[in-house]
Amino acid sequence: MNALKREIAANITHDGPISLEHYMGLCLGHPQHGYYMTREPFGANGDFVTAPEISQMFGELIGVWLAEAWRAAGAPTPANLIELGPGRGTLMSDMLRVARVAPDFLDAVIPSLVEMSPRLRDIQRQTLASAGKPISWLENFEATPPGPAFIVANEFFDALPVRHYVKTLAGWRQRLVGLDQTGALAFGLSEKIEPTLTAPAREGSIIEVCPTGQRIMSDIAARLVAQGGVLLVIDYGYTQTSLGDSLQAMSKHVYVDPLDAPGEADLTAHVDFAALARAAQAQGAKVMGPVTQAHFLLQLGIERRAETLSRKASPEQTREVMAALDRLTGVQDPRRHMGALFKVMAVTHPDMPDLPGFF
Ligand code: SAH
Repeated sequence: MNALKREIAANITHDGPISLEHYMGLCLGHPQHGYYMTREPFGANGDFVTAPEISQMFGELIGVWLAEAWRAAGAPTPANLIELGPGRGTLMSDMLRVARVAPDFLDAVIPSLVEMSPRLRDIQRQTLASAGKPISWLENFEATPPGPAFIVANEFFDALPVRHYVKTLAGWRQRLVGLDQTGALAFGLSEKIEPTLTAPAREGSIIEVCPTGQRIMSDIAARLVAQGGVLLVIDYGYTQTSLGDSLQAMSKHVYVDPLDAPGEADLTAHVDFAALARAAQAQGAKVMGPVTQAHFLLQLGIERRAETLSRKASPEQTREVMAALDRLTGVQDPRRHMGALFKVMAVTHPDMPDLPGFF
């Protein structure tokens, strides 16, 4: 039994079962044993691969897109360039490099990274050591400087803890994590019936909600409406709110039991884009998309970018560029292709004109 499991089990013995949401928050963010505090999640030797780690093309196109959004917003100077959950810092590094072709944008932006993990902050600092701009690190969005903000979040919202409600004959109950007879972690249900949930559904149906994601989206949307700017969200998820459980635990590129080794596997849930869009619209923000990642990247010209890169490349490098293009925009095989599973949505100030990638 690992240290985090012992600590959670001791707390449950003392105070009773905890919500799935609390459990997921501990697994990912526990100050000593949380997944993002201790692990090397990314890359071939890690637990999963993200788009910026697959190819520089991803960060370059996002950087160009944000520069265009900044121009469409009237080129406010200064402006914040913010990334939520930057992982290894690769996306920010690729964005700042490509921004050299838009020097007015590069001069105008003040980059900030929102990252909760001190370990990942160190890695980001190394990645961005030669970025040529001073960068601030902040623990949460509220701490970012005021003013117009151009924000990107790739695979950030999927890492926020979710709550499950399960339909029983008596009504909806919240999913809890407790202990079974042998002392092992086990799923259970709250005794309390959720009074606000009255939706009719078959017994065993699950409602999955992400209150932290909703709150962060609503804070950001309020900021964009008051002070201008955009948020670009890229993540795997679904476009219509529906019933079902999408919680998954991944370790070394395979799915594992989420209760098995807390803090050692990456716990995520698919993003409910419709719920995020509602949270943003409730603040008066404009929402573009969601569209598929394939649609977005192809419209931004990823094929042209791949050709340009290939022209200067060795045959081996060309194969890599083409494989990355296929991985990022392919749609046939959801285990390999990100093009259809991943969605892209923009949230903006209400006066923002339609932006590239969304029509
Ligand atoms: N965007 C990166 C990494 C995605 S992994 C990429 O595409 O490669 C999720 C990232 O979000 C990690 O950097 C993790 O430490 C950070 N993170 C997760 N929850 C967070 C929270 N509540 N506040 C701040 N950062 C968080």
